[in-house]
Amino acid sequence: MVCLKPKRIVIIGLDAPIAYRVYEYSRKGFLPNLSKLMKEGVHAVNFLTSYPTVTPQNWTSIITGANIGTHGVTGFGIHLPGEDLTNLRSAFDSSLCRAEFLWNVVEEAGGSSIVVNWPCSWPPTFKQGWQIGGYGLSMNEWRRGGILYEADLCDGQLFTTLDLPYSTKIVFRKASGWENLPSCTDALEAEVEPVYSVCVRAGKRGVELAKVKGPSPWYFLVLDYGEGFTELAVSWKKDYEKALCRLREGEWSPVIIKEFETVDGKVKGAFRCKLVELSRDASRVRLFVTPICNLSFPTYPEDLVEEIVKVNPLAFPSHIVYDGLGWGWFDEKTFLELVEMEHKWFSDVLTYLMKTRDWKLVAVHMHAPDWFYHYAVQPEIIDPSNPKYVGDKKARKLVNLEIEFYKAIDKAIGRILEAAGPEALIVVVSDHGVKPRIYEVNVAQVLAEAGLLVLKDDGSIDYSKSKAIPGWEGPWIYVNLKEKFSHGIVSLEEYEEVREAIINALLGYIDPKTGLRPFLFALRKEDARILGLYGPRIGDVVYALRPEYGSHHGQLPTTEVGIGSLKGLLIMKGPGVKKGYTLKRTVHAVDIAPTICYLVGLRAPKNAEGAVIYQALEGFPDEEVEEEKVFKIQRKFFKKEYEDTESFKVKS
Ligand SMILES: [Zn+2]
Repeated sequence: MVCLKPKRIVIIGLDAPIAYRVYEYSRKGFLPNLSKLMKEGVHAVNFLTSYPTVTPQNWTSIITGANIGTHGVTGFGIHLPGEDLTNLRSAFDSSLCRAEFLWNVVEEAGGSSIVVNWPCSWPPTFKQGWQIGGYGLSMNEWRRGGILYEADLCDGQLFTTLDLPYSTKIVFRKASGWENLPSCTDALEAEVEPVYSVCVRAGKRGVELAKVKGPSPWYFLVLDYGEGFTELAVSWKKDYEKALCRLREGEWSPVIIKEFETVDGKVKGAFRCKLVELSRDASRVRLFVTPICNLSFPTYPEDLVEEIVKVNPLAFPSHIVYDGLGWGWFDEKTFLELVEMEHKWFSDVLTYLMKTRDWKLVAVHMHAPDWFYHYAVQPEIIDPSNPKYVGDKKARKLVNLEIEFYKAIDKAIGRILEAAGPEALIVVVSDHGVKPRIYEVNVAQVLAEAGLLVLKDDGSIDYSKSKAIPGWEGPWIYVNLKEKFSHGIVSLEEYEEVREAIINALLGYIDPKTGLRPFLFALRKEDARILGLYGPRIGDVVYALRPEYGSHHGQLPTTEVGIGSLKGLLIMKGPGVKKGYTLKRTVHAVDIAPTICYLVGLRAPKNAEGAVIYQALEGFPDEEVEEEKVFKIQRKFFKKEYEDTESFKVKS
């Protein structure tokens, strides 16, 4: 039975790992720190996060213990009552969350919290403690809505002679007018306008939003010392001695800290460069420049940033790391080096704060697995049952990359655990998993076919003629009520009739390509309370898709298809928690905060609706139900495909 209360709490959030794969890799010993945690604690195989299985909703459910209907963080955007559906607020504004956060409970009890990169937590809601980030999914990344993300100061860039997506072209000519040129056989130069963008993916819009305006141009110089071109210098002046860095193929520059011209005046930024490729004839050149990280980003308290950038100035907006691999900007080795840098920042900063502060709660969110599966290695390409499968040989290579990727995260976790000490309660938790994409269904099109929605020629929705409008932010449909919206066309008297028509349209729809019904259910909003969805920020009909349909996540938390699973990852370890135990009972996202509070002797957050996961604790028997069939099939399949193959045995 419980005899010792954990004195401290460490919550490590991993976004979108595929739980059974991480458990499997840990069991095999690839992830020594997670493996140790599993041996000394409990891991859950039926952890169901809140529906829809999307990031802002679930991190908020986990940290408040409240359902989505209660905390009101309904998606990346939030629709507030009284506003039109065209006007969504960014969920990353903590003032829109209606539930109390765990760190406020800690504060009330006299404790301090260290909160790092927890989505939707900025501005901070506590005074006692330290907060970094929370306004995006990674450091120096803002999510204000209207654009995918805004990197601060600037997104990563690739300068190259090749044709690669979103890259900046280098065209070499004979070098001339350079000062302090070393003696060499040949020298070529290029003058390039860098693309200062907050989001490379966003094209023009990303450049428009960029705070950074200069310096520009950048000069590149490649030098031949008699064996072909073997060195590249990056400079803001045509002076070899004043180059930012001089690199050979495969080399990284040290961290470079420089002042940039921005709309707010001069601002210091930190970045690194890697010469990914330099062929001897200089026809193939790829120079990757990491995001330029603002050295004066907001922290709580305000002056904390000065300490943090001394510990590690490379606080990456890291979306580009995963895009870059997908776009062929760099090789797998460079990708893993970047992942390592990204997570070293987390472990450097956390261990520093944990050692220099008196703290009760650490809460950190690391977004990497989500980007890995969305952009670097999509699950469909390593899923033999998927049409996009790349074949056994390539897939094995990519699975090795997946393992190496998780190893970098595991390493950071190891350092955090060491700083936490043996008496802390450790909770490693995810917001959802990931599944391969198979089929798509266009909800607007389904409603249009039923005569409930009108599409304009450009494919956008005509609000002035549509009775039903799909929520951009969540799996629901709004009735376009006159009483609610300035674009409304449906009267209150027609409301039930329109709702019924929406439900019939969804449930009756058969995908002509597959013969399947994509919609598993369509519920009236009041019935969606069984899912924790209710209140004025939710649409009038809530639906869910079959596992085969839709994006990488967002479907029901029970979704398992191909190599994918949306079940959450949950490992808990500490005084009072069972040891080496596989927890079979159903656990919900809202149970995490109440369980933590119970174990450390705090009251639960005020709006918490979950319950204590008693069966994770010593003295409570667990359910004796067998693991689900699908899960078993997956495990078997997984073993058959990848176990005991040569390439699977990666060096540790
Ligand atoms: Zn997520």
